[in-house]
Amino acid sequence: MMQQDARSPLAHLGGALGFGKYMTNAMVLCRYSDGTGWEKPSLVPYGTLAFDPCALVLHYGQAIYEGMKAYRSPDASIALFRPDRNAARFRASARRMEMAEMPEGLFIEAVSTLVDAQRDWVPAGAESSLYLRPVMVADEAAFGVRRSTTYLFFIVATPVDALYRDGMAPFRLMVSEDFARAAPGGGGDAKTSGNYGRTLIALEAARRSGFNNVLWLDPVEREFIEEAGITNVFVRRGRDLLTPPLNGRILPGVMRETILQLARDWGLSAIEREISVTELLSGIDAGDVDEVFLSGTAVHVAPVGVIARRGREHRLAAAGEAQSLAKRLSQAISEIQRGLVADTRGWMRRV
Ligand code: PMP
Repeated sequence: MMQQDARSPLAHLGGALGFGKYMTNAMVLCRYSDGTGWEKPSLVPYGTLAFDPCALVLHYGQAIYEGMKAYRSPDASIALFRPDRNAARFRASARRMEMAEMPEGLFIEAVSTLVDAQRDWVPAGAESSLYLRPVMVADEAAFGVRRSTTYLFFIVATPVDALYRDGMAPFRLMVSEDFARAAPGGGGDAKTSGNYGRTLIALEAARRSGFNNVLWLDPVEREFIEEAGITNVFVRRGRDLLTPPLNGRILPGVMRETILQLARDWGLSAIEREISVTELLSGIDAGDVDEVFLSGTAVHVAPVGVIARRGREHRLAAAGEAQSLAKRLSQAISEIQRGLVADTRGWMRRV
């Protein structure tokens, strides 16, 4: 089992929280069956789950998940960031995977139940939070490829630091020439486990070569950038902020949507359009790409310093500078998440 700590959670953990190093001591379970629908979520001690060896998820991969965070404000109140967006994406993933859809109210109730019970585990640090991992799996024991009639939903939680923090080196990405993350019609926009397992071969190859992650190209022409690892990707040229359009293969990130909205509110032109990797890399070499950055719940907003393709490194000289848009976005979003500024857009939901 993951490391557990039943006593005063954060006080004596000391040092860096890491990411998923400590799991909180409770979890939420909620079962579904076609006959009776969803049961009420229950809070139980963190522990192992037992599955029949023929549970459909273990064979055919009907599994979806979410990643979201709860933040502590200076007045000690605790709030979730845009949980309605995670609830909606969880339903969309369920539809794509022929799984039971969980209503938004029930999803948020389940998440809130866990966070409320684990208030002491929500860290106060400027770059830390309680990361929540809702998961749903097909647990019916049956042999044969078909949809399950029963599902187990659970949520676990871990106090974390942001995966990218101030002062860290900007990310180094390697373009994957050999592998694709998603195919046309292949469900790359669903947060289903198989979309992650199949990327590990490229991720580990990139890591072995000294890179943090993979820059994925489109699977057809292998010319347009799609995502980087498990983050969405942005390119800034002057006042234009570009990101690839949601084409059915890209995960619709909550941070992506948030960044597009903030950029528009700030008067930048936020454009969703295809971005050619050839154009991007020659733009970087010519010095007319100002920034490339990544977004995701875990990473927050992270600058990219190097993109390598076919053995050549292309360097973004100004990556991570104090006046960068990446930094400005990260700070502005963080201030909203921590309740340091008024939540004029209704993004925070108090627990
Ligand atoms: N792309 C992929 C493939 C992801 O798994 C994630 C993480 N959920 C993201 C992008 C970023 O999404 P979000 O901003 O909602 O965390």
